[in-house]
Amino acid sequence: MATNNSSRMAVMREITNRAPRLTSRPEENGVQSPTSAWFGMNTFGLRQMRAKLPKDVYKKLAASIRLGKKLDSDIAPVVAQVIKEWAISRGVTHFTHWFQPQTGLTAEKHDAFLNFDESGLPIETFTGEQLIQSEPDASSFPSGGLRATWEARGYTAWNPASPVFISETGGVKYLCIPSVFIGYNGEALDEMTPLLRSCDVLSARATELLSLIGDTGVLRVITTLGVEQEFFLIDRGHFALRPDLVMAGRSLVGAPPPRGQQLEDHYFGGIPERVQACIAEVEQELYKLGVPICTRHNEVAPSQFEMAPIFEDSEVAVDHNHLVMAILRKVALRHGLQALIHEKPFAGINGSGKHCNWSMAIVADNALDGTNLLKPGKTPHQNLRFLLFLAAVLKGVHKHAGLLRAGIAVTGNEHRLGANEAPPAIISAFLGKGLTQVVEDIAAGKTSASSAEQAMLKLGVAKLPEVEQDNTDRNRTSPFAFTGAKFEFRAVGSSQNIAFPVMLLQAAVAEAIGEITAELKKEISSAKSVDDAVLKVAKKAFKESTAVRFEGNNYSDEWVVEAKQRGLLNLRRTPEALEQLTTKGAKSLFKDTGILTDVELESRYHVRLERYIKDMLIELHTLQQMVDTQVLPAAYGYIGSLAGTAGQGAAAGINMQPIVDAANAASKLVATLQKKRAELAKVIAKAEHMHDDAAAQAQYITSTGAEIMAEVREASDALEMSIGDEHWPLPRYREMLFPV
Ligand code: ADP
Ligand code: MG
Repeated sequence: MATNNSSRMAVMREITNRAPRLTSRPEENGVQSPTSAWFGMNTFGLRQMRAKLPKDVYKKLAASIRLGKKLDSDIAPVVAQVIKEWAISRGVTHFTHWFQPQTGLTAEKHDAFLNFDESGLPIETFTGEQLIQSEPDASSFPSGGLRATWEARGYTAWNPASPVFISETGGVKYLCIPSVFIGYNGEALDEMTPLLRSCDVLSARATELLSLIGDTGVLRVITTLGVEQEFFLIDRGHFALRPDLVMAGRSLVGAPPPRGQQLEDHYFGGIPERVQACIAEVEQELYKLGVPICTRHNEVAPSQFEMAPIFEDSEVAVDHNHLVMAILRKVALRHGLQALIHEKPFAGINGSGKHCNWSMAIVADNALDGTNLLKPGKTPHQNLRFLLFLAAVLKGVHKHAGLLRAGIAVTGNEHRLGANEAPPAIISAFLGKGLTQVVEDIAAGKTSASSAEQAMLKLGVAKLPEVEQDNTDRNRTSPFAFTGAKFEFRAVGSSQNIAFPVMLLQAAVAEAIGEITAELKKEISSAKSVDDAVLKVAKKAFKESTAVRFEGNNYSDEWVVEAKQRGLLNLRRTPEALEQLTTKGAKSLFKDTGILTDVELESRYHVRLERYIKDMLIELHTLQQMVDTQVLPAAYGYIGSLAGTAGQGAAAGINMQPIVDAANAASKLVATLQKKRAELAKVIAKAEHMHDDAAAQAQYITSTGAEIMAEVREASDALEMSIGDEHWPLPRYREMLFPV
């Protein structure tokens, strides 16, 4: 019997015979060296700088990194010269400014060191200017109308906070210079520039607030970020046979397997050997690049995993998360695996997020009481300070919850938010029982003691460290949970460039810190003590942000009802979430903080909306092609073979009615799918036609488009479950998620 499934079966045979590719750690004289001996070997980080730069140059560079300042142009030539020699000694031939256009990915254009001297002899050159700035022909990156395409000029400029590193791929080594990407008039064309601006404004405002409460000598307040990355690893053979995974990153058809994740046996289980070898190699590549990966484990869904680094300065953590995603994709291939970083590769199975653990920390020359501003400490002063900054975060998140939702509005996350596995589309903050009590007592005015000192005693604020980290299931359902010494922004999507959501969070918090500072200044003049004033201001902020605090189960239906009563936004679809970027509140926030001009803000809205439309159109077209070229032909083949069998049997005088019935049943399913497929084609045609009005087009696609995709899928999945296995061309969920 002729079948059309030969590639699927061949892949199955190949996969079952596949041996793990073992990973071995770097060795010295036959002994495996500890990670610390070679950590960061492919970066020109502090260790290399100190070893190779003249002392005064090193000091200047280190200071500018520490304080987030621009590089002195007078030291650039020396730094460039030393970096060039280091790179060449490592076999590097080219350099590139490595930047983050608004595509979600990174971009690079390589230039050779090769040049000719005056006498025409070949030499390697790399100037200070080339290190600091470059002008790629970057006219094709999305700018959301910010830059007319004929004004192609965009500049990239080194961000020295993030170390230069050597990329190794296909036996080629090139030098990457982490950079920002700006237009001719300084407009931010990338994701990094606004993030850096938000770091600067937050630092300035937090420093002012700190000095107001007596913490002087602060050089800078940095934000810290530890990014937990979730992903799936499936066999590359299966991936190659699924046009939907290749084109859209997620499966557009596929019947659920009898066993999904209900046994909960995958979470924290033993990592399969093939995967373990792959992840260990990913870690090694990342260690060479100075990315401090520290945890790895199985996630809830079958074939789902997570890795997380030790937290770093946000500016660096964002770059490092890009490296994590890129290295993961690359190294997986070496192991015959495909990393799926999409938010929801498999319907009905848990999706992937990227928990952004975030806090603020003091950089100071003098010894202060602790440095993490969101960590309760040992002294009453530190605890009061903690409450003040906590109040600022809650105030900012409450006021700009809609913007935070916009920050996680990417196509893939739409399938994840609100499903019963991930935080809902409603932004709320979780504090835990102990801390909630303190916050509520302050908000309710239980601080009305004769002095702040007494009030603190009354509240038990002096003993805050004993406020235990509340790690119940409840906090796992929260999109923004306080977990002891940092907030965990859990609703961020696994594939996202986190620069954008982190920038929005920092903008919101910076604005709140500014407002709190202004209020505190007023209060201090009339209050008995600074501490009294601080409590008063914190009380106000806690009170006004009450609605955004939620300790219950975010997955429950009751929460949706209650959130509505509280006046919280529940923005389920991407287009409506993105509209939050166009509100008055958003405009005034960015004007106040100076992070984005009106035009820059508007361009972010347009870039994201266009991206959503493009992603969805790709999905619609891919689905149609799969139905036409794979699903329906498979059904035709199956029905044809039944008909052939029935004919032969009838000729032999056998009762073939049951076979005819089976063929008729399949034929009915085919008719349903054909009907839905015709509707799909109409929806696609209409959607394509609406390109003059992006907002209306997005609205149509997110409603009618998403609905027809679901209907086509249902019809296709019914066929998958009805036709003979050897006729089915697409790797099934069972095969992809449960490797044998
Ligand atoms: P938990 O189990 O409470 O989530 P972990 O210690 O496992 O906490 O940390 C999870 C992530 O949070 C790690 O990447 C870690 O480095 C990061 N993290 C811890 N403290 C901070 C902090 N102060 N700021 C930012 N990230 C942090
Ligand atoms: Mg976590």
